[in-house]
Amino acid sequence: KSGFISIIGRPNVGKSTFLNRVIGQKIAIMSDKPQTTRNKVQGVLTTADAQFIFIDTPGIHKPKHKLGDFMMKVAQNTLKGVDVVFFMVNAEEGFGKGEEFIIEKFQSVKTPIFLVINKIDQIHPDQLLSVIESYKEKYDFKEIVPISALEGNNVETLLEQLKEYM
Ligand code: GDP
Ligand code: MG
Repeated sequence: KSGFISIIGRPNVGKSTFLNRVIGQKIAIMSDKPQTTRNKVQGVLTTADAQFIFIDTPGIHKPKHKLGDFMMKVAQNTLKGVDVVFFMVNAEEGFGKGEEFIIEKFQSVKTPIFLVINKIDQIHPDQLLSVIESYKEKYDFKEIVPISALEGNNVETLLEQLKEYM
């Protein structure tokens, strides 16, 4: 099995951290500063029974200037032509304008979209439940997977679920 997965989400939700964890190399630039990742970076994870080709996208956000506009287009293009889209969000922050803006872009997309709720190491399980509930009513995600990219919680499970879609 092999498949392409694009990872989208606002800056700082942990996209690069996730990629670095699964690929096991410093392939994406990590930083506390938003928008460090200016280019698509692909990483390939080959396991005994599957090959995952990840595409790290610049953060989708409301374009405020030309470069932002360009990055938006890059990110939107990566919604199509892949097997699965990961929409990564920060568990510490609730559903907001930024998330709403991104979810609007999903309406015309047929690609299966996973909601990946990252940084669960930072929150109480009760809080996670309410985050899940708030997202569920916004979009019909194929899978909702809480993870900690930093500590590795549930990352293996996420990869297992991915295989079902490739
Ligand atoms: P990106 O902009 O989406 O690529 O986000 P990064 O991967 O650069 O991560 C932004 C910040 O969040 C960094 O300081 C990471 O160490 C931190 N971070 C990423 N994943 C996690 C996580 O699962 N838990 C915690 N506590 N911090 C995380
Ligand atoms: Mg990044």
